[in-house]
Amino acid sequence: QETLDAGLQKTREGFFGKITKAIAGKSTVDVDVLDNLEDALVSADVGIETTVKIIENIELRVAKDKYLNTAELNGILKAEIEALLVKGDADATYENYELPKGHHPHVILVVGVNGVGKTTTIGKLAHNFSLAGKSVLLGAADTFRAAAVEQLTIWSERTGVPIVKREQGSDPASVAYDTVVSGVARNADVILIDTAGRLHNKAHLMDELSKIKKVIQKVIPAAPHEVMLVLDGSTGQNALEQAKHFTAATEVTALTITKLDGTAKGGVVIAIADQFKIPVKFIGVGEKAQDLLVFDGKQFVNGLFS
Ligand code: GDP
Repeated sequence: QETLDAGLQKTREGFFGKITKAIAGKSTVDVDVLDNLEDALVSADVGIETTVKIIENIELRVAKDKYLNTAELNGILKAEIEALLVKGDADATYENYELPKGHHPHVILVVGVNGVGKTTTIGKLAHNFSLAGKSVLLGAADTFRAAAVEQLTIWSERTGVPIVKREQGSDPASVAYDTVVSGVARNADVILIDTAGRLHNKAHLMDELSKIKKVIQKVIPAAPHEVMLVLDGSTGQNALEQAKHFTAATEVTALTITKLDGTAKGGVVIAIADQFKIPVKFIGVGEKAQDLLVFDGKQFVNGLFS
């Protein structure tokens, strides 16, 4: 909770500054307060659709209670946000960096646009799964950028986790295939495969990802067990756009939202959790290996309101 609270500092300050302003000088929740609150949430990157949903719920509450005190508003807002964030199947999370049960090795395909923190997230996952006693294997299937392979290699050296890679320009699907074959041979617990994110058009992206999935399935029919989309939280509403783009191109099963430190746009996590029925499983709150946290909706809300 401490790392999370520190990482959410800017978002918390922005969020609260706006909400405090929205209710300044008012004792009861009236139409003005709700209008101000709506503006505050939208400008805190909660997104219009999600904001409207939250405001409508509070309106219902006001209609029922008549004289709702503004002092009660924080608690109500917190409960509303928590309801949007806390959902999904608890068995499918990575709590304490344990792996969801049932498959061995557990294959995670990591997708996302360049620059969002994909490689860093994979490095952090490798570190944390290793610390939790899991044997990890990395696959450098982002073969378009030499820098991507180099960076993943640095993480491999830093964490002592083996990596499967080829020269730049080789076929990403064949790197993915080799990685899974090697993971099975090594009896790895978890395989993390990096993919290229430079694909601009949807058809190309779909094609590339489905090819990678197909070759993985030649080795393990039920894999990948997770397709994790990495989004940069500091880009606010752009992250929502990317999520739309990727979910239209392939089946995404989990989200990681990075760079929540250093931004006041962390409200976007609420919009993303609400608008995509895909669970947020990790959040990045810094550049170091320990700055990747398993997402917990309750803790996140506490971090926002602490
Ligand atoms: P990729 O192109 O998606 O693989 O992105 P990288 O992993 O290379 O990350 C791009 C930059 O973002 C690097 O400088 C990372 O150190 C930085 N970065 C990644 N995650 C976080 C995070 O959670 N917080 C901060 N502050 N920086 C991050």
